[in-house]
Amino acid sequence: MRIADVMVVGAGPVGLMLAGELRLGGVDVVVFDKLTAPAEESRALGFTRRAAESLEQRGLLSRLGEFRWGPMGHFGGVRFDLGALEEDHSGVLGLSQARTEAALLGWLADLGVPVRRGHEVTGFRQTPSGVEVSYTGPDGPGRADVAYLVGCDGAGSTVRGLAGIPVSGRESTRGMYTAEITGAAPRPRPIGERLPGGRMVVCTPLGDGRFRIVVHDPDLPARPDPAALTFEEVADAWERLTGESIRHAEPRWVWACGNSDALAAEYRRGRVFLAGDAAHEIPPLAAWGLSAGLQDAVNLGWKLAAAVNGWAPDGLLDTYQAERRPIGELLIRNARAASRLYLGDEAMDPVREVMGELLARKDAAEHIAGLLSGLGIRYDLGKGDHPLLGKRIPPDLRLTLSDGTPARTADLLHTARGLLITTPAAEHIAHRAAGWADRVDLITAAWETVPDPALDAVLVRPDGYIAWTGPGSDHDLTEALQTWFGTAR
Ligand SMILES: Cc1cc2nc3c(=O)[nH]c(=O)nc-3n(C[C@H](O)[C@H](O)[C@H](O)COP(=O)(O)OP(=O)(O)OC[C@H]3O[C@@H](n4cnc5c(N)ncnc54)[C@H](O)[C@@H]3O)c2cc1C
Repeated sequence: MRIADVMVVGAGPVGLMLAGELRLGGVDVVVFDKLTAPAEESRALGFTRRAAESLEQRGLLSRLGEFRWGPMGHFGGVRFDLGALEEDHSGVLGLSQARTEAALLGWLADLGVPVRRGHEVTGFRQTPSGVEVSYTGPDGPGRADVAYLVGCDGAGSTVRGLAGIPVSGRESTRGMYTAEITGAAPRPRPIGERLPGGRMVVCTPLGDGRFRIVVHDPDLPARPDPAALTFEEVADAWERLTGESIRHAEPRWVWACGNSDALAAEYRRGRVFLAGDAAHEIPPLAAWGLSAGLQDAVNLGWKLAAAVNGWAPDGLLDTYQAERRPIGELLIRNARAASRLYLGDEAMDPVREVMGELLARKDAAEHIAGLLSGLGIRYDLGKGDHPLLGKRIPPDLRLTLSDGTPARTADLLHTARGLLITTPAAEHIAHRAAGWADRVDLITAAWETVPDPALDAVLVRPDGYIAWTGPGSDHDLTEALQTWFGTAR
């Protein structure tokens, strides 16, 4: 029985974000998760600037409650100054993954998206018109038919395995223990304290007497079993490295993992897609997984909605892999480099010094900050000479709409539709897009914050990336509209 257009497997942050994006696109979507309740442990403590912007352009930042913006001004422990850069690259800090997931769940509830807990996907079969999914639910085994299936089921993804999609990556060579504690107050080491022999400890105060501690030690098992880890083992490892006892502390949760990484060879096979950790397993040391996954979701959501709604131009669905897989690959490479710097022994000291000298240069700092924050992402969306082409539209450009209302660019993307902004002098350009008005919002507005160089017109995809500018693009608006939004009605 066809239960929805799309089934999202996994109610982690990526699956929840994707389900919301699909719903905004008018898709009938259902989320299945094998857990009977949201996970209690809270892995990520924040996310990057671009991930935050992705939430902001759907109006979701206000749902997150209190958090702080802060600089992510180090690469593998080599610090550099983000304050000297023109753009603000700081990210969201001090926000638990559990709170991010709760906020997304609240959004889905408002959008009317069902999240079915206690439903574990165990198999599927693709047919020419859809996917037949097998699962085990609270009432036993079941079968559900959908048009598309998306595996957002995390590291070691079942969907990825069932689809037969191979991964490349590295085996784990060392372990990492982490715990969230109350009742003890270890000395804070928020970006980590390196210790002899490639060891490191991190202690991040979380407020309200809570602390996150992390132990990196080559002597820990390379493939620890997180389910078998006890707090005593974490406390032992912490004391061995720091001399501080935290045995009297109260653990809220403990977690163990290795430093393996993995990248799916394909992000799409037929009607089955992968997003988030299911597509790319980035070692937790880098703390980029959630951020990358949210952006996968925002990239895929509108494209899949276009396919379901019948207006996706040829090849649109394939641009998901073409755009996002290279980013996954780059992040894994960067995580390997950062981990060498962070966890290498004293032999890495000269490399750290050279990196420090390089990062004192503004152009190098700009490059690395762009990689870390996600603001440096530029997709190949067509040729031209405007520097914003293929990049995200800055969310805080101010405009006055034709009826005199003030607006910010991020606010105009709340609907997750395409966006064509034209200045009053260039309003005639908007007439050329009239045939796409059911998919693209046509906005006439005067720039209050004028983009540099100035823009008479700009076409923005639902994920916030600039697909065409006037002037500045080599191809014309009609071609760009057809490429991203299909045939005019
Ligand atoms: C210690 C640690 C710290 C981290 N810190 C950060 C950070 O600061 N910033 C950051 O950006 N990232 C961080 N990360 C990474 C981040 O936690 C992950 O990248 C993120 O959780 C991935 O989200 P996801 O939705 O892809 O997968 P997950 O969060 O793993 O969710 C997958 C979901 O799928 C469900 N599922 C699995 N199999 C099935 C099935 N067969 N059927 C139904 N449901 C299924 C699971 O129950 C789960 O709910 C950290 C990771 C760790 C381990």
